[in-house]
Amino acid sequence: MNKQPVVLEVNKVTKQFHDGETTTKVLSSVDLTVYQGEQLAIVGTSGSGKSTLLHIMGTLDVPTSGTVMLDGEDLYQLSAARQAEVRNKDLGFIYQFHHLLPEFSALENVAMPAFIQGRDKKQSLAEASALLERVGLGHRLEHIPAQLSGGERQRVAIARALINKPKLVLADEPTGNLDASSGDSVYELIRELAQQLGTAFVVVTHDYKLAAKMDRQLTMKDGVLQQVAEEK
Ligand code: ADP
Ligand code: MG
Repeated sequence: MNKQPVVLEVNKVTKQFHDGETTTKVLSSVDLTVYQGEQLAIVGTSGSGKSTLLHIMGTLDVPTSGTVMLDGEDLYQLSAARQAEVRNKDLGFIYQFHHLLPEFSALENVAMPAFIQGRDKKQSLAEASALLERVGLGHRLEHIPAQLSGGERQRVAIARALINKPKLVLADEPTGNLDASSGDSVYELIRELAQQLGTAFVVVTHDYKLAAKMDRQLTMKDGVLQQVAEEK
């Protein structure tokens, strides 16, 4: 079994959406433990609740019941201010669409979470530059998102997710918008950085081939997470 320390613990999480008379049950009882530095893939068909779970793991949505503990802190018992701090400092997010700020350079986009944290500006820019170098974009520091390819934009988004050295990075279909070869290289990068930095990554994807490259795979089905049979 995994002997690494636990980063995140999801316990009996349920989620229902209410819209007037209609109730949509999405998560029926999700249990999940994420260990330090591990790379976990969550697969499942569209509409199975993968994004909903990821949002709940990242304080972007509230569970109907159950708890989420990040490094021993119960995320949904925290003040809004502390939650925002955790989101900025301990968590990183990568989305299908990069969500970079269009008017800022790659360098500024990556440094932004460090600025928000109030870290020294010069130091933040130096770290952002080093991270961009690491994701192969040292020659694109001053380009704005519109001047980058799709794969390059996702690399910037990965660097941005890592600038504050989070404990956990949550990625929702990070390669969903890329061609196969850019998708492969984005995954390679995630794996490499997770290993080097000891950051845990949870990646949601519907691409089973990419998921198979991660340390562990789980399937979202019928509102619960299930083991995927080992094929290795
Ligand atoms: P996935 O990411 O696996 O494709 P989602 O987590 O986005 O699935 O959505 C799971 C289900 O929850 C879908 O049936 C979706 O329609 C429903 N859902 C998601 N968000 C809301 C919402 N804000 N209100 C009502 N239903 C929602
Ligand atoms: Mg989704």
